[in-house]
Amino acid sequence: MNDRARGTLIGLAVGDALGAAVEFSAPGTFQQVTGYRSGGPHGLGAGEWTDDTSMALALADSIATVGWNLNDQAERYVAWFKTGKYSVNGRLFDIGITTRRSLGRYLATGHARNSGDRSEQASGNGSIMRLAPVPIRFAELFPDKLGELALLAGESSLPTHASEQCVSACRYLAVVLAALIQGEDRDTVLAPDWEPLKQLMAIKPLDPKIQEVAAGSFRHKRPPAIKGSGWVVASLEASLWAFHDADSFEEAVLRAVNLGDDADTTGAVCGQLAGAYWGESGIPQKWLEGLAKRDMIEEALVPPRPSRPI
Ligand code: MG
Ligand code: MG
Repeated sequence: MNDRARGTLIGLAVGDALGAAVEFSAPGTFQQVTGYRSGGPHGLGAGEWTDDTSMALALADSIATVGWNLNDQAERYVAWFKTGKYSVNGRLFDIGITTRRSLGRYLATGHARNSGDRSEQASGNGSIMRLAPVPIRFAELFPDKLGELALLAGESSLPTHASEQCVSACRYLAVVLAALIQGEDRDTVLAPDWEPLKQLMAIKPLDPKIQEVAAGSFRHKRPPAIKGSGWVVASLEASLWAFHDADSFEEAVLRAVNLGDDADTTGAVCGQLAGAYWGESGIPQKWLEGLAKRDMIEEALVPPRPSRPI
């Protein structure tokens, strides 16, 4: 697997771990994050990661094991929240409200495609935070089968986050990540007139708020208008703001987590972008070495055997 594909998942975990210590802290109320730090609301050790990475590992495991099956994806999220599988320390210590409710509906109905909350008020960032395995495994669908890639990315949101904003954000982010993994230039990919973005919108329009972000809203704003919020529109915007003109993985991800609030998740989303662009080799060695449970991340990066249905 290439350096950029690996960087997409490892970057997610690194951003998550960097932000974990200041999650829920208001911007400006904490000592600026410069590296892994213990503590935070979940009392984690330095380099330990949270639900963002756990859910990404569950999604990666599902794709590697059964190919594409939303019920199987939901089953693995349930295994995480019931047994602590995919968790850095073997127990569940954080789960978003929308995710918990949706997985409850999945358990009651057995239909992951319909279990996610469709209302706009449920537009949290819980499905973009775990997205990496989709563009990693299906990067080759870009650019010729961009519609298929976007369809899978949108579907991956449904078990927990089925609102139009969440699904649109996954469609857009997956195409951006796949393009970066394929080595496309950052400025080209983030341009409002990027040809694949036009194609994506021609297949199915993006939610208007996600379209605004894709059109470059993040270029004209600064904090406090840029927020490390738990809402998907703000979260995607903040991640792109931190990434789009940074000079390094380190600069991008530290900008993201130092927004505070949902710092681990802004870090995880920005970490996917920065990891896809700069690759694993662009991630500081100290952060690669300090990341907890590297073996679990590595296992999720093992390519599926050809016999597996992908
Ligand atoms: Mg988290
Ligand atoms: Mg979070």
